[in-house]
Amino acid sequence: MDRANVVIIGGGVVGCAIAHALSSQIEDVFVLEALPRLGMLTSSRNSGVIHSGIYYPPGSLKAHHCVHGNRLIYEFCAANRVPHKNIGKIVVAASTAEETDLIALMENGRANGVEGLRIIDRAAIRAREPHIEGHCALEVPSAGILSSEDLVKTFARVAVDRGAHILTTAKVEHLENLSDGIRVTSTAGEIETRCLVNSAGLFADEIASMLGSNMARHKIYPVRGEYCELVRAKQDWVKGLVYPLTHAPGLSLGVHLTKTLWGNVLVGPTARYIDDKNDYENDREPVANFAASAKHLLPAIEPADFVPAYAGIRPKLIPPDSAAVESNGKGIADFVIERDPEFPCVVQLIGIESPGLTSAPSIAEHIATLVGEILD
Ligand SMILES: Cc1cc2nc3c(=O)[nH]c(=O)nc-3n(C[C@H](O)[C@H](O)[C@H](O)COP(=O)(O)OP(=O)(O)OC[C@H]3O[C@@H](n4cnc5c(N)ncnc54)[C@H](O)[C@@H]3O)c2cc1C
Repeated sequence: MDRANVVIIGGGVVGCAIAHALSSQIEDVFVLEALPRLGMLTSSRNSGVIHSGIYYPPGSLKAHHCVHGNRLIYEFCAANRVPHKNIGKIVVAASTAEETDLIALMENGRANGVEGLRIIDRAAIRAREPHIEGHCALEVPSAGILSSEDLVKTFARVAVDRGAHILTTAKVEHLENLSDGIRVTSTAGEIETRCLVNSAGLFADEIASMLGSNMARHKIYPVRGEYCELVRAKQDWVKGLVYPLTHAPGLSLGVHLTKTLWGNVLVGPTARYIDDKNDYENDREPVANFAASAKHLLPAIEPADFVPAYAGIRPKLIPPDSAAVESNGKGIADFVIERDPEFPCVVQLIGIESPGLTSAPSIAEHIATLVGEILD
């Protein structure tokens, strides 16, 4: 039987970033990914936005990892030729009444350490985005876009170059606690490890429960986010990243407009609780709903200008009842990242929803510290 120092369950962007960070210091690091390719789930079904960190409560893990991850992502992408662009974004206030909330958002971002934030007026919005309607906007220069599939592949490639072992079609089915580690049984075989990292995304709560851990109480509620695209003739109507001002940023940042690296414009994602973590397509939102949401920003757009695109599923920790959302203030649950109190050689990552793509390299640094403590 193989023996590992670290086994990481999940070959999404977070698992691969962790393998990348660990492989520079530790030998015998393994990633076990259930699917035939890396990053096939949430890590390639997102907006591909490098977030800045303006929305999250100061002091939260989301705020820290997003702001720090933003800097690390630009450095990593530049050093490893991952396609990306620092195009900035605007958050648009529709009326004078919304200006106070926009200023509060700017102050929240500044408290998190986001640099370069400023309010611009309608004329400046128009100079930047001629088709966008708004009273004023928050300009966020550190936001950008990247190819999330290339990011996953590049973290993995560098990790493998440094000696990490990445196995696909290796679905973890059984975990057994040993006196000096964990025995992991997957569809690719059995391996004993001194340290286990649960980075299984939407299924992280199920992995915690497979271990018999009380951390499975952090139940994941899948929330689907669907996208449309603007038809080719209207792609030039949006130049960059354009977001509405959301008043209760809980489930999502509101349906927004994302110019991708390939020049198309994504509209979305929507946010709806679903029952099945694998259900990307049933009962899709009508195109007319996307048109209605986007019209606030792009008044001249019509339903015929939209075509349905892909969907992704967020691993939310907040259950689908409004009382729980309200009791949590703005409905923002933080990432859960910690050594399991009952199984100290296990690090659990649960609820790694947005901004998980941006945060991945910063989360990986954090995990490297925790793994270092375990292996010491
Ligand atoms: C609609 C949407 C838009 C988003 N937009 C952005 C954005 O613009 N910017 C941003 O920063 N973040 C964004 N996010 C969040 C970001 O995509 C996620 O936080 C990130 O991809 C999570 O990565 P992960 O590696 O934790 O999870 P995943 O990508 O889900 O990877 C987990 C992996 O674990 C594997 N796995 C599960 N169970 C097992 C098992 N038993 N054995 C082995 N392997 C297993 C899965 O197959 C999967 O590949 C968005 C998310 C969504 C849904």
